[in-house]
Amino acid sequence: MTPLQKRIEKIEESIQQACECAGRKRGDITVVAVTKQVSAERTREVLDSGILHIGENRAEGLLSKQKEIPQGPIWHFIGNVQSRKVKEIIQRVDYLHSLDRWSLAKEIQKRAEAPVDCFVQVNISEEGSKSGLSLNEVEDFVERLVEFDKIRVIGLMAMAPLTEDKEAIRSMFKRLRELRDILAEKKMKHAPVTKLSMGMSNDYIIAIEEGATHVRIGTALVGSESEGDE
Ligand SMILES: *Cc1c(COP(=O)(O)O)cnc(C)c1O
Repeated sequence: MTPLQKRIEKIEESIQQACECAGRKRGDITVVAVTKQVSAERTREVLDSGILHIGENRAEGLLSKQKEIPQGPIWHFIGNVQSRKVKEIIQRVDYLHSLDRWSLAKEIQKRAEAPVDCFVQVNISEEGSKSGLSLNEVEDFVERLVEFDKIRVIGLMAMAPLTEDKEAIRSMFKRLRELRDILAEKKMKHAPVTKLSMGMSNDYIIAIEEGATHVRIGTALVGSESEGDE
């Protein structure tokens, strides 16, 4: 087994364990391998290991990976989208995890040819420096999106702050799940809001215990190019 395959196996084991603890089904969780820091070659190895969901956070990274790997991956865009880049990427991604403002929604409406599956990004730590809507803005924002037929709100996305305080992270994930439940309950046609994109290398286990349906795992899964384990 290559180091990459070993890492994937270890992650798979901890995901299954977390599912067991939380009484969840493994099939309800999608692992998105975040390849923003590694080459197309490493990305291909990830695909060969059976993970088809690939996450990139910049337009340049997405476009260059797609050039080298035209077929196979299901593409997730997870980073901040500049409005001027919408045109370039919107028809090339399967999921957008970072819908975080009205001007971006307007631009997607203008540029997309078909409805785009989006997660609304929420700033759960309420730190000014982080992108995403405040928890108390989300409901209104999602409801107003009904006027945009090119946007389908499938879920909420958040990043936990960098902290060692696991209980703080857990309570933020919990709050996001509660908000998801409130929105899902409304059964809005344009916004089913059943999914939860939360959890990265350091906190994906907590995220799964708290209801994540999509975990976005970078370094713990793909490693770093410098370790040279191709
Ligand atoms: C980079 C990134 C990740 C993955 O981070 P790791 O800590 O390397 O797992 C997940 N989500 C977003 C939005 C990112 O930018």
